[in-house]
Amino acid sequence: MKVAVFATKPYDRFFFESVNQKYNHDLHFFSPNLDAQTVSLAAGYSAVCVFVNDHLDRAILEVLAKQETRLVALRCAGYNNVDLHAAEELGITVVRVPAYSPHAVAEHAIALILTLNRKIHRAYYRVREGNFSLNGLLGFDLHNRTVGIIGTGKIGRITGQILHGFGCHILAYDLYPNEEFSEKYAKYVSLAELFNKSDIISLHCPLTPETHHLINENAIASMKPGVMLVNTSRGGLVDTKAVIRGLKSKQIGYLALDVYEQEADLFFEDLSGEIIQDDLFERLLTFPNVIITGHQAFFTEDALESIAETTLSNIKNIEQGEFCPNKVTVEK
Ligand code: NAD
Repeated sequence: MKVAVFATKPYDRFFFESVNQKYNHDLHFFSPNLDAQTVSLAAGYSAVCVFVNDHLDRAILEVLAKQETRLVALRCAGYNNVDLHAAEELGITVVRVPAYSPHAVAEHAIALILTLNRKIHRAYYRVREGNFSLNGLLGFDLHNRTVGIIGTGKIGRITGQILHGFGCHILAYDLYPNEEFSEKYAKYVSLAELFNKSDIISLHCPLTPETHHLINENAIASMKPGVMLVNTSRGGLVDTKAVIRGLKSKQIGYLALDVYEQEADLFFEDLSGEIIQDDLFERLLTFPNVIITGHQAFFTEDALESIAETTLSNIKNIEQGEFCPNKVTVEK
């Protein structure tokens, strides 16, 4: 199928071209996001392949339909950026990649915990400058510490299993507890108990109206003083202003973020020569006990290969009129 691949970075192109040797789709790569200004680039393409920051609202979908695009292939799990009702009315099929590598995200959460605890981000620069002082680098043993995992789906369970291997006590909270995880690795408790007893809290639930600002002023006040908070899930789970107040009062002892509520204006681009206008984000960067990565938890070779494989297979299924397990349909 002739596919216009939007929002392409060099790494996307590398993995898509390599996996496509098996599928032989006619792929054309475009670096801009798909929007009102760039939608004309898709004229004549049967399919568009898009990512998290491409917004396919009704107006864009109407133009795509007029230009005879019949398939939107999302190369991500979420589909909140596509107007599914409009796509259905316009006869455009939508497919996605429901899971790629939960290990990638779980392992990144562990990297953040270890870095923050042992101050590797600070030690790295000190040693390069010939400063071998240990003052300010004191960490704690993970062994015997209590870790609270909120959301015990694919990623949360792997994170819990790895930390169990470190000798941590795992507390878990989920709307739907997992029996096997509970038998082998964790004790399910109420959210209040998890907040109250955890030395480290790692977020792995989706962003929904119920979980928006789950970590707010009250939640932070009920945590152990000096708690470590880790968010590799979605920025909107955390009330950034409340977290900054928590860091200033030292109620929060450590903060690691891979996601940020206003990340769409920042992440995935090189802004090193720009003046960043987001004052909350800039304030977070001033704390020595905060580390932020730019939504890179998923970013492993294995995950990118898996994303390319599933996306190109989805396109083949639709092209050949086969059953596609990853079709997204409107909930009725
Ligand atoms: P999953 O669907 O397997 O698991 C999510 C779990 O959260 C489920 O067990 C669900 O029951 C639970 N849950 C739902 N609502 C809840 C609530 N109100 N309170 C507590 N638990 C609740 O998803 P996953 O693959 O493990 O992914 C988890 C999250 O990780 C995703 O929602 C996504 O936002 C994030 N993610 C981040 C990256 C990254 O690069 N940083 C990559 C992939 C996924």
